[in-house]
Amino acid sequence: MHFTGRTWRPPYESQSVILQATSGCTHNKCTFCSLHKNEKSRLSPMDEFEKDLAEIKNYQPNARRVFLTGANPFAMSYENLKLRALTVREYLIKCQSIAMFASIRDIKNKEVWQLNKLRAMGINGLSIGTESGDDATLSRANKGYTADDILEQCRKLDEASIEYYFVYMTGLAGKGNGQHDEFNKMIKW
Ligand code: SF4
Repeated sequence: MHFTGRTWRPPYESQSVILQATSGCTHNKCTFCSLHKNEKSRLSPMDEFEKDLAEIKNYQPNARRVFLTGANPFAMSYENLKLRALTVREYLIKCQSIAMFASIRDIKNKEVWQLNKLRAMGINGLSIGTESGDDATLSRANKGYTADDILEQCRKLDEASIEYYFVYMTGLAGKGNGQHDEFNKMIKW
């Protein structure tokens, strides 16, 4: 298998087959994150991708869910994602879903009809590190999107019936700035 750089997956993907499609992060600018700091973002060449699929097919021919690694494989173009999804299904004929990490930024350049097609090809289950829904916090963390962007882009996923999971970073807003503290202030009698 061609794993380069740091490879990780969410805990709920522990039963999924792990396949490298990208490595590193195309953004790599979030102020709190050093996960891929010293890695260049890279797209796995198709021959490498297919060699890994052939190897997986030898050991897990009945694999039903594949998780593509890299900080945000969903940054790939529609055409490239389509090619990857179809290739996965060529090798793993029982595969039902292809999940991956994605950023809100990566959804922006995809139309709903394209998302619909990707869903039909098996792409489903995006793990999105939204981190916060507060504009000031998102800006300070340099996430590259706003709270409105989160709503707008996730509505597109809803329309295409693509499931997604949010990852929030508790405490990112800083001491005293969390919703909980605000709520506490509000309910102080
Ligand atoms: S998008 Fe994710 S992996 Fe990339 S820098 Fe931000 S938190 Fe780190």
